[in-house]
Amino acid sequence: MQITGEMLIGARAVRGSLQAIHAINPASGEQMQPAFGGGSGDEVNQACALAWQAFDGYRETLPQTRALFLEAIADNILALGDTLVERAMAESGLPRARIEGERGRTMGQLRLFASVVRAGNWLDVRIDPALPERAPLPRADLRLRKIPLGPVAVFGASNFPLAFSVAGGDTASALAAGCPVVVKAHSAHPGTSELVGRAIQQAVADAGLPEGVFSLLFGSGREVGSALVAHPAIKAVGFTGSRSGGTALMQIAANRAEPIPVYAEMSSINPVFLLPAALQARGESIARGFVGSLAMGAGQFCTNPGLVIAQEGAALDAFLHTAAAALADVAAQTMLTPGIHQAYSEGVTQLNSNTAVAAVGSGIAGQGPNQCQAGLYVTTAQAFLTDESLGAEIFGASSLVIKCRSTDEFAQVAEHLEGQLTATLQLDDADLALAQALLPVLERKAGRLLCNGYPTGVEVCHAMVHGGPYPATSDSRSTSVGSAAIERFLRPVSYQDLPQALLPLALRDENPLGVRRLLDGQNDIG
Ligand code: NAP
Repeated sequence: MQITGEMLIGARAVRGSLQAIHAINPASGEQMQPAFGGGSGDEVNQACALAWQAFDGYRETLPQTRALFLEAIADNILALGDTLVERAMAESGLPRARIEGERGRTMGQLRLFASVVRAGNWLDVRIDPALPERAPLPRADLRLRKIPLGPVAVFGASNFPLAFSVAGGDTASALAAGCPVVVKAHSAHPGTSELVGRAIQQAVADAGLPEGVFSLLFGSGREVGSALVAHPAIKAVGFTGSRSGGTALMQIAANRAEPIPVYAEMSSINPVFLLPAALQARGESIARGFVGSLAMGAGQFCTNPGLVIAQEGAALDAFLHTAAAALADVAAQTMLTPGIHQAYSEGVTQLNSNTAVAAVGSGIAGQGPNQCQAGLYVTTAQAFLTDESLGAEIFGASSLVIKCRSTDEFAQVAEHLEGQLTATLQLDDADLALAQALLPVLERKAGRLLCNGYPTGVEVCHAMVHGGPYPATSDSRSTSVGSAAIERFLRPVSYQDLPQALLPLALRDENPLGVRRLLDGQNDIG
């Protein structure tokens, strides 16, 4: 398939007339072809108007229709073959194995949501039949189901050019819920975005769905994204990226005449607590596993372990020694964009110039543009508790170890943390009492708690939570990964005393969709 540099507005391909975007190959620093014409407010209006027109028809499609549509998107992405893989590699600097793995995850997410749509639990059907004889007052017939919010604006993430971009988790969960989607492509991978966008556009046409179910816009700078979030037809936003970008979009959404929810996943430093018995018994193997997690993908994961908390002493010294040795063998890796590389370099420079911080070790320095040299640093709990800058995310393969004088300081450090996507405990049986004391604090701070593992690597399943209090996300009540992500784009509607003929299929007595229901307070398996 040819990459043309055009936006996809419903069934049409449209060349934007504003400032052109070129992808940069981060490994070479070279500009890639073709140019992608930037969209204007006009194209935002067209895409949003089509999405709004499509909404009522799309949201009442049968579950099977929607499931087949999601599966067709997955098939179409696979059919793009090496054209997609090679373009994504060139635009992101990520290696083939990672891109092919990510493509598998993207297709797996779409198929997971197809199965979720078919099962119908997301409808959350509840039926409280009328009680006409109830005294002193009769009860009306009340039936609840969930309906989609409306068209959703999705911002593709730079660090997952497939799995969290045009057909990624936000798009899959919104389409599954019955929401048309308008994607603002990430300017770092416009060619990848166009290819995947065309795969979705084809699936929309093949399924006979309204064309406005999907559109893809390009635009560098803030104009297109801001106009999209401000557009009255848009009813929710999915975003993964920087804290400044996410909070800017939250502001726009809150200032609208009709404010809308923004599900922004922003920054997290993912603390790893090394509890004393585990550190003593197996500090060296923990150190090697930790460095693997820290350096994976040049650390460009929202779940990268950016903070380690441990008690000072010989066991921590041995951990640091082993970690520094393992880090010395870590090759430099190309970062996703020049901007991300620059932000990483600035973060590391700031750490190096902080007199309360010492360097423990570093990876191999890179040759060529945009190379990430991994780094490990150490500071004290006292410094961490008094210097806000030490809690800031440095997006990349760098981590800070907090030396505590006693385990009493663990709770103080935990309490001091901002909201996180994850918190990890490395523990042995003798650590259980300390872990028990930390858990209530960590539950308040993070969306996912792990024992004896590493936070990188997010399973896409039903029980996953990839979320957490601000600034990890803008709304801690939800997850952006896993089947529960569909909940973000739904709202409940109650129907009182509607005749059967007027009720949506999911709420009729005979349960024609065969969905699970809460019938007069009892589970009723469809
Ligand atoms: P970003 O700058 O936040 O950009 C993400 C998307 O939002 C892009 O499409 C961008 O448009 C758009 N955008 C950003 N600010 C906006 C604003 N004020 N108004 C309207 N649209 C806006 O994120 P990034 O480029 O991916 O990476 C920059 C930094 O974000 C990284 O260094 C890292 O610190 C952080 N990051 C965090 C995660 C995470 O998972 N926690 C993931 C990726 C990045 P353009 O395409 O025009 O730039």
